[in-house]
Amino acid sequence: MASYQRLKDSVAMITGASSGIGKAIAIEMAREGASVVINYHKTSEGAEDALAQIEAFGGKGIIVKADVSKEEDVKQMFDKTLEAFGKLDILVNNSGRQVDAPFLEMTLDEWEAVISTNLTSQFICSNLAARQFVKQAEANPSQEANAIGKIICMSSVHDMIPWAGHVNYAASKGGVLMFMKSIAQELAPLKIRVNAISPGAIKTPINKEVWSDPEKMPALMDLIPYKRIGKPEDVAKLAVWLSSDESDYITGEAIYIDGGMMLYPEFADNG
Ligand code: NAD
Repeated sequence: MASYQRLKDSVAMITGASSGIGKAIAIEMAREGASVVINYHKTSEGAEDALAQIEAFGGKGIIVKADVSKEEDVKQMFDKTLEAFGKLDILVNNSGRQVDAPFLEMTLDEWEAVISTNLTSQFICSNLAARQFVKQAEANPSQEANAIGKIICMSSVHDMIPWAGHVNYAASKGGVLMFMKSIAQELAPLKIRVNAISPGAIKTPINKEVWSDPEKMPALMDLIPYKRIGKPEDVAKLAVWLSSDESDYITGEAIYIDGGMMLYPEFADNG
């Protein structure tokens, strides 16, 4: 456990925290003193493993099943959070999925599945979180200068980089970017900070078919000037900082954590 804990006495809800980036964020936030809500969608093992790791270092958490694209599920997740911890300070909209298909073959179901999980879910969760932050601040007005609540939206380098064969995913992340900036603008006067994290290639189950195939790795490395795939912990450390008071003057920003993927590496030798 860190000796100075940057999220001490905070409550953080992390969606899709049973694997990959979300799981690493839940563990890292708990290490920094937050009580964490570990959301999972289908199978609970990953969430149970995260909680076991957290409890082993003396941290606190609860596990909540919810499909974040369903308002009723999200509402019961908020109820359970307030029952367990009495408040919410940080929301990490992390859940996401890919359902890939060439555009000429993509069905409406494939489009909607990704938009609802990656984008609509962020509306549902952020809307309830922002209302909760305001309610808490009204019930307990304090003189503190810092934010009354923080929202982190998990985006992707594909909120800027077009991605053939993944139009539903790229459109969802482009949507996340403008969703984040628009609510950041609207909520800043209420002292709610909203930011995005836009990862490049991070080694998680979502892209296993790339990093587990030695033939596909060289092509991926061509896209990463820093010449390594990212780790979930790289992103988790950024999420901790972005939800701590150390970043209190930052809102409406998307931070790219991508080993330089956004630097147009194909132009490194003058194109
Ligand atoms: P992952 O597959 O390990 O995690 C995705 C999580 O979302 C899983 O825990 C899954 O159960 C959860 N989820 C999916 N549908 C859900 C639903 N309806 N309700 C609740 N939870 C649901 O992959 P990851 O790489 O850790 O992805 C986490 C986030 O990071 C996603 O938003 C993804 O788009 C984003 N991202 C990942 C990468 C990468 O390279 N891994 C790059 C850019 C962005």
